[in-house]
Amino acid sequence: MSPAAKSPPAPLEAGRASSGRYSGWRLFLEGLTGQRGWSRAWAKAAPRPRYRVVIVGGGGHGLATAYYLAAEYGIRDVAVLERGPIGLGNVGRNTTIIRSNYFHPENIRFYEFSLKLWETLEQRLNFNAMVSQRGTLNLFHTEAQRDLFTRRANMMRLHGVDAEALSREEVKELVPLVDLNNGRYPVLGGFLQRRGGTVRHDAVAWGYARAASEAGADIIEHCEVTGIRREGARVSGVETTRGAIGAEIVCLAVAGHSSRLAAMVGLQLPIESHVLQAFVSEPLKPVLDVVLTYGAGHFYVSQSDKGGLVFGGAIDGYNSYGQRGTLPMAEEVAASAVTLLPGLARVRVLRQWGGVMDMSMDGSPIISKTPLEGLILNGGWCYGGFKAIPAGGLTTAHLIARDEPHPFASHLDLRRFAAGRTVDERGTGPFPYAH
Ligand SMILES: Cc1cc2nc3c(=O)[nH]c(=O)nc-3n(C[C@H](O)[C@H](O)[C@H](O)COP(=O)(O)OP(=O)(O)OC[C@H]3O[C@@H](n4cnc5c(N)ncnc54)[C@H](O)[C@@H]3O)c2cc1C
Repeated sequence: MSPAAKSPPAPLEAGRASSGRYSGWRLFLEGLTGQRGWSRAWAKAAPRPRYRVVIVGGGGHGLATAYYLAAEYGIRDVAVLERGPIGLGNVGRNTTIIRSNYFHPENIRFYEFSLKLWETLEQRLNFNAMVSQRGTLNLFHTEAQRDLFTRRANMMRLHGVDAEALSREEVKELVPLVDLNNGRYPVLGGFLQRRGGTVRHDAVAWGYARAASEAGADIIEHCEVTGIRREGARVSGVETTRGAIGAEIVCLAVAGHSSRLAAMVGLQLPIESHVLQAFVSEPLKPVLDVVLTYGAGHFYVSQSDKGGLVFGGAIDGYNSYGQRGTLPMAEEVAASAVTLLPGLARVRVLRQWGGVMDMSMDGSPIISKTPLEGLILNGGWCYGGFKAIPAGGLTTAHLIARDEPHPFASHLDLRRFAAGRTVDERGTGPFPYAH
């Protein structure tokens, strides 16, 4: 689950044939013939001097935007510029949870759109992303929290999204490991979204990269953007470590590095960068078949298909571009873990890592034009941008292709911060540590 555990499919050399269609039949045949017929998954493109659209950042959102631009909107003159190998940013560092259990109607609509896209994504990309709708269960511990969760579940149901209330007994039946009567915060019940779950994060990056490459986009790795070119009030391209590249449209999809890239054209964003940690335990036999969140602290856990318990908590509270966290947060996560699931005290942690979060000032993302004509921003994903990758990519592609926001993402405009139309899901104000 961590960056250390990867072995990505090797990219195609430029000009080589596509990797062909994956199928059970092909797997069977390759098994009989020594696995020699597989070609590489995506072309290793070299930068051309000019593209219609340049996307900066080969994470989930950048790759998905390139794919939907080509596949949905017929725009194939697209390059994705990634400073390292694809998949080593947050798309390959997250804890893989997908869900649409939001409160604000606009957010419910956007994340439910994403969840629906996840449900058919593997068939569409012809790539096994291990989409597992095992359910997400949010526990509550006080009557006030029950009211809050009930309100959210009712909003979801009003908008046609599944949400169920579970009693203490039903929670115990679903997750026998939970200590319902723990001395600190006894569990009163839970809310379950059965269609929530997990997706293999690396496979999402690889699947979109392969599909975007086959649809005609250039995926250019080891190409860092070091400057953004402008002609008057319009963007005209980017400077990179592999030379200048001209473009009509430049789309920033760099997650935790959004502020840095925007600063290249003097744009200050309502975004702070913070590190978020995650942990994975040694592999265990199946003990947990839902995604579980602890309402009394910021702690959540699921079990990967390899058996490791994958868990995390809140962001480290200081600004950072580091991809590792500090011990106080690790201690806080461990304390929450053993309060809720005392059995975890005997489990060893195998790996810990961090990712750089683009925390927006209202906790909601930004998919928007910017004051510089032709410069598009996809960012502010906070710690929830993985589940949004299909919808984020599609609605960003729509904004680029149609020059107007997609109806499901019109509330994510950058101007909302100046106009006081923030979409503050948790009602906590402009404080990233509280979102
Ligand atoms: C520990 C952790 C747990 C998380 N858990 C969840 C979860 O369970 N569910 C969920 O929905 N979300 C989760 N998230 C959040 C989610 O991973 C992110 O919001 C989402 O992946 C961000 O979008 P992305 O994939 O496009 O970003 P990234 O993968 O970070 O892509 C941005 C890319 O831009 C590249 N880049 C930066 N600067 C430049 C430059 N100058 N030139 C070229 N390229 C550049 C980077 O190298 C990077 O590859 C978690 C994040 C972390 C770190």
